[in-house]
Amino acid sequence: MPNNDVEVLVIGGGAAGIAAARRLTAASIPCLLVEARPRLGGRAFTVTDGQGFALDLGCGWLHSADRNPWVGIAQEQGATVDKSVPPWQRRSLEIGFPRADQDDFQKAFASFFARVSQAAEEARDVAASCLLEPGGRWNGLISALGTYISGGELECLSVKDFDRYQDTGVNWRVVSGLGSVIREYGAGLPVELDCPVRAVDHCGKRLRIETAKGAITADRAVIAVPTSILAAEQIAFTPAVPEKTQAASGLPLGLNDKLFLSLENAEEFAPDVRIFGHTDRSATAVYQFRPFGRPHIEAYFGGRLAQELESQGDDGFFRFAVSELTHVFGNDFSRRVKLIGIHRWGVDPYARGSYSFALPGCADERAVLAESVDNRLFFAGEACSAHDFSTAHGAWHTGVAAADAVIAARGT
Ligand SMILES: Cc1cc2nc3c(=O)[nH]c(=O)nc-3n(C[C@H](O)[C@H](O)[C@H](O)COP(=O)(O)OP(=O)(O)OC[C@H]3O[C@@H](n4cnc5c(N)ncnc54)[C@H](O)[C@@H]3O)c2cc1C
Repeated sequence: MPNNDVEVLVIGGGAAGIAAARRLTAASIPCLLVEARPRLGGRAFTVTDGQGFALDLGCGWLHSADRNPWVGIAQEQGATVDKSVPPWQRRSLEIGFPRADQDDFQKAFASFFARVSQAAEEARDVAASCLLEPGGRWNGLISALGTYISGGELECLSVKDFDRYQDTGVNWRVVSGLGSVIREYGAGLPVELDCPVRAVDHCGKRLRIETAKGAITADRAVIAVPTSILAAEQIAFTPAVPEKTQAASGLPLGLNDKLFLSLENAEEFAPDVRIFGHTDRSATAVYQFRPFGRPHIEAYFGGRLAQELESQGDDGFFRFAVSELTHVFGNDFSRRVKLIGIHRWGVDPYARGSYSFALPGCADERAVLAESVDNRLFFAGEACSAHDFSTAHGAWHTGVAAADAVIAARGT
């Protein structure tokens, strides 16, 4: 290890860790970013398909784009930001889902959200599933959307947390991939890749951090790994930090996986329209046709369905997608699609899920997770965000906040 004594060690090179290291470097504070994977970006991950199109297997949407720091960063890098209206703000294809049903569903979905907001005002936190209308016609589809939004089933979601998420309703994308922008933002930083951290000893005057490439000594650390890693105690702290383990356990990562298919004769469909595989159940995927106008289908699988399909390998997603698409468009449709991209985030050892949600009663754990320990251990990552959790911009803000807290602590 070339650099085994640093002032600040940043652990985890995702959006949060990169943002923290950038801030520290800009403030001329010597730091090192250590990342377990052979690449930066974490849950931001762009790959290129055989035709040269960028596929975001992790985050893709610049949510709350009118106040999202990645928009400016992407533009500074010269990347093209696409401002087309997202599929979920357009009408779905009417095949299998007539206009009157879509209107009826939208009304039911809006009422569900209104009930969630109302329930969030109550002292006692409950699961979002309690707010479904008993016997409601659209409960299955509302639950499916719940899994796309949070990665968890409604029975597991804290109403208070669900309601705290803030979204301006403006959603953009990056043509060359949001994952590429986030990785590129880390270019030039002092980074050690392939370097998983195993232990953090904060007993002594200085921190001693055990990594796969040897020990590092540091004055302070920014810990920017997913809650799944903290909850599983994949990094051993001495002395233990039970409040962090407990907070992370209350903020598990839900599961959302994306599947990309190539589509023959794609022009039959308008760009950026969507369909649901089924409209009467929660175990269904949503299919976005021609993202960016490309000859692709981008499918989203959430919650329990994604978990079940992950156990069947990449092919399980493909087979499920083909069965739903042929259910809607007829058997010949299977000949028009080919698998071009998938990443199973649940079995990814350094993610173990997609993005955090709070279990009922655990909404305030985000603030607990974000607190520093002894002005030496600082925590960052999307799960630490009070209102922008589960997103790349939320992660950015927590990374910058942790770096600012380090800067403030140096002066004390
Ligand atoms: C399929 C999917 C779709 C998504 N869609 C969107 C979207 O459209 N818009 C949006 O804003 N967000 C989206 N998200 C969420 C977004 O990607 C994340 O919220 C964000 O990237 C998290 O950043 P982070 O830095 O907090 O964590 P991560 O990106 O997970 O970074 C943590 C880093 O820590 C590393 N690490 C783990 N353990 C160790 C260790 N022991 N030692 C060293 N390093 C370690 C990991 O490898 C990783 O690089 C999506 C996520 C997924 C999976």
